[in-house]
Amino acid sequence: MCNHNTLMTREHLFFRCPFALSCWHYICPGFLPSDLVHQNFKRLKDEIHKPFHMEITTMILWSIWKCRNEFIFSGTVPSLYRCRNIFKEEIFLVFHRAKRKSYVAFKPWIDRFR
Ligand SMILES: [Zn+2]
Repeated sequence: MCNHNTLMTREHLFFRCPFALSCWHYICPGFLPSDLVHQNFKRLKDEIHKPFHMEITTMILWSIWKCRNEFIFSGTVPSLYRCRNIFKEEIFLVFHRAKRKSYVAFKPWIDRFR
């Protein structure tokens, strides 16, 4: 997906690739990726600082993965715009399915992206 001559590891694809990093910075401007996946999840949890951080993290990972697949199978150039659109579509569906009382702060957070 990028021009770097890098081994396509999960750490690179999901966290260290410039494209992936731009997607993370959309949600977490202060996120600094580590070489360890578990450390990245911990840093994202601390950075997002919401009870629904795992839903956000999962949807960003899913959006990056979908952009990667569109690039490989359709030749679509990955873009932050496309990743954001996938994220918004998916996170709205998560909110729609969520039990509302356990996601009190989710609605104001998600409204920031409309
Ligand atoms: Zn890359």
